[in-house]
Amino acid sequence: MNMELSRRHFLKGAGAGLAGTTIGALGFGEAELAYADAIRPFKLAGTTETRNTCTYCSVACGIIMYSKGNLAKGEKAEIIHIEGDTDHPTNRGTLCPKGAALLDMVHAETRTKFPQIRKPGSDKFERVSWDVALDRVARLMKDDRDKNFIAKNNDGQTVNRWLTTGFLAASATTNETAFLTYKVVRGTGILAFDNQARV
Ligand code: SF4
Repeated sequence: MNMELSRRHFLKGAGAGLAGTTIGALGFGEAELAYADAIRPFKLAGTTETRNTCTYCSVACGIIMYSKGNLAKGEKAEIIHIEGDTDHPTNRGTLCPKGAALLDMVHAETRTKFPQIRKPGSDKFERVSWDVALDRVARLMKDDRDKNFIAKNNDGQTVNRWLTTGFLAASATTNETAFLTYKVVRGTGILAFDNQARV
């Protein structure tokens, strides 16, 4: 027995077997069986599988994204299918309606793909590089913290609070990333700390 057999491959094989048994019981022959077996692989043939985490909520379900296009040849990769990862311990291949609709979010025209800045007095946003955006965020945070950090309260007790800046993190991360984010943000003294899942 192949001990490397993954849960996903097992389910794929079991599904094909069930389909074959059912079709065979209905009286179809070899050609129909071959056709039924070919339908699923055909859709995803030649695609690249990439594992990721659903972006929507803190359940953090595992997903597999299937993309076409060879980056090594200068082609643009395009995600054509997303499904739950049956090997993932959190969701075992299942997705809720939001997760099942992830492909629509990926291709949405309104999706934010890069940082933008609206300068004082301007009525429009301008695209900037990640370096510019991160430097600006860091500069503003440092200046605000230097100006408003509260080391002690009126009774002289050490409180180390920074109340004038808030931080919004992503909930769909690993435990390790979430732990580090929490430590860094709390280490600065920020109290207003949240994420999109409100947990
Ligand atoms: S699939 Fe649904 S439950 Fe799972 S992380 Fe996404 S939004 Fe949350």
